[in-house]
Amino acid sequence: MPDTFKAILISRDADKRQSVEITELTEADLMDGDVTVRVEATTINYKDGLAITGKAPVVRRWPLVPGIDFAGTVLSSAHPDWKEGDKVILNGWGVGETHFGAYAGRARVKGEWLVPLPDALTTTEAMAIGTAGYTAMLCVMALERHGILPEHGPVVVTGAAGGVGSVALALLSRLGYRVLASTGRAAESDYLRALGASEIISRDELSAPARPLGKERWAGGIDVVGSHTLANLLSMTSYGGAIAACGLAGGMDLPGSVAPFILRGVSLLGVDSVMAPKDIRLQAWRRLASHLDPAKLAALTTTIGFGEIVEAARDIVDGKVRGRVVVTM
Ligand code: NDP
Repeated sequence: MPDTFKAILISRDADKRQSVEITELTEADLMDGDVTVRVEATTINYKDGLAITGKAPVVRRWPLVPGIDFAGTVLSSAHPDWKEGDKVILNGWGVGETHFGAYAGRARVKGEWLVPLPDALTTTEAMAIGTAGYTAMLCVMALERHGILPEHGPVVVTGAAGGVGSVALALLSRLGYRVLASTGRAAESDYLRALGASEIISRDELSAPARPLGKERWAGGIDVVGSHTLANLLSMTSYGGAIAACGLAGGMDLPGSVAPFILRGVSLLGVDSVMAPKDIRLQAWRRLASHLDPAKLAALTTTIGFGEIVEAARDIVDGKVRGRVVVTM
């Protein structure tokens, strides 16, 4: 009898109706790749919620094991960079979209997709950070590359009580920025202040259609919401500032004006974590391991078991999840 392991499988019927089940797979069921990993921890990202609920076309192969990120131990490798026993992290590269993903006891992937687990992190801590936290770091790095420094003025973070937002707050405050946190959940104000927010802004202040130019309120920002919120962020960015945009929790459109770009020299910095080159990933994970306060990481993390993944995926799309959800296998 071959070894079996639990997996979540998303299938689609002839009428394109999607269903989700927990099943047992063997290594022979996994897709091609040169490294097989025992998944020790994974997480629930917004994109996983979209995949499991079918609310957006994240899944592009059926049936599919969802889950866009994991941390674990290499079981076998035909790739020169990895050997049995190595601790690794995977984020993105189409895993959980077109390639069998993290919600299974084992994963087989391409060795070039993996990065080493930093010594300072456990596999569970790495997934408490997860793709959301790694993307928050990519956004911070994008602002830094643009030359936005703490002395230039405050920075704003939208969707602050969510995964990307919570980690972004913790990172920016640790780096010395004054951080304004925008949230639709006023009840989470104490949580946001404990992570490092100096001021709380109501989500409603930023969700109405934007004026071409507004009062200059911040030197930079990280936006996970898109749509009117992103247009408002741009219109209120001070001269020469920049907004790093990584999300679409409020919509994929961008109903704004070019005025901030051509009259204030404001920049819009696009951030993608899925296909980010390896050197940027290594830098981001190195900095996450050294800059993220472990107490703050623990405060923004909820831990669940494998059997709770589907429910948590539904909750994240409904905006009910605070901070990060890590799944221990
Ligand atoms: P979460 O669900 O954890 O956080 C999103 C937050 O956005 C919510 O907690 C809520 O924050 C706010 N929000 C939700 N709906 C709305 C709305 N309709 N209008 C305004 N605000 C809203 O998700 P993640 O942090 O994991 O991901 C955030 C976004 O970033 C997603 O769109 C995701 O797809 C994207 N992303 C992109 C990546 C990339 O590579 N570009 C990688 C990772 C994530 P609050 O309650 O505080 O208002």
